[in-house]
Amino acid sequence: MPMRPGTGIREFVERFPDADACLDHIFRSRWGDHTACPKCGQFGTWAKVKGKNSYRHSCRSHINVLKGTIFHKSNLPLNLWFYALLLAANSSHGVRASFLRKQLGLGLKSSHRLLDAIRWQMAAYSRPTMVGGPGKKVTIDEAQIQNITLPDHSRQSVIVMGIACEGLLLCGILPDRKRATLVRNIDRFVRPGSTIVTDCWTGYQTLKELGWDHIAVNHQRAFHDFQGNTTNEVETYWTILKRTIRAYRQMSIVNLPALLGEVEFRYNRRQSPVSIFDEMIAKLDSFPDGNLSAPVQRYVWDP
Ligand SMILES: [Zn+2]
Repeated sequence: MPMRPGTGIREFVERFPDADACLDHIFRSRWGDHTACPKCGQFGTWAKVKGKNSYRHSCRSHINVLKGTIFHKSNLPLNLWFYALLLAANSSHGVRASFLRKQLGLGLKSSHRLLDAIRWQMAAYSRPTMVGGPGKKVTIDEAQIQNITLPDHSRQSVIVMGIACEGLLLCGILPDRKRATLVRNIDRFVRPGSTIVTDCWTGYQTLKELGWDHIAVNHQRAFHDFQGNTTNEVETYWTILKRTIRAYRQMSIVNLPALLGEVEFRYNRRQSPVSIFDEMIAKLDSFPDGNLSAPVQRYVWDP
């Protein structure tokens, strides 16, 4: 597998020497050099307002550059935010709050807030709404993640479902692994005409009757059938997900969806020619309504 290019610290310091450089980048990535002013409709010119996170148009109207981003209403200087994004982008299994705390000299609470926001940013990125299609093989599997903490501090295992096709994977939390739940989510995320590869779990047994081309691979006997069909693609993902979760002493049901978003974001870009950091800072206006955790709900399937 070719190495994904990262953004190194030298390039980072040159591009983002201070908070203003970061603000300028966010302004340009959101409104560009040749975008009409949302207020007056004219092109005109924009200038940064001194001491504020806003730009002023030649018609004198202002734009708050950070509104709708994870940086809005934060006291942390933008270049530190960007540095935290760089650290998260360049790590293969995500960063811990304690690491950010040391790197950035933050308090414990701030570093947790920062890490949450970075996850929300990754989880908010666009993902395919459906995978597969005629002639394509879609691999589906579910896994149980143990010891997830519930709001009442009890612990429970949680079922997650993974749907993979051609190197892209979608993952979400299921309420159970009953047949109806699995089928409903297959209908929702898999394009008609796909060939579905699963294990022999009874939950998948009606797929053929429902009109799907279905291959069930018997795990007990061998991890592949004689045509070379396996569910390995999703199983590899489970290994990565479980390893990431194991790094936390506690994973709560509240934080799990965002963590799924982060792991999926990284996994789906493992062969991307663009650095993850560049992709993360290319589109930062993911939260127009100001609700940072709203996109995370996309990782809770069929609640
Ligand atoms: Zn204007």
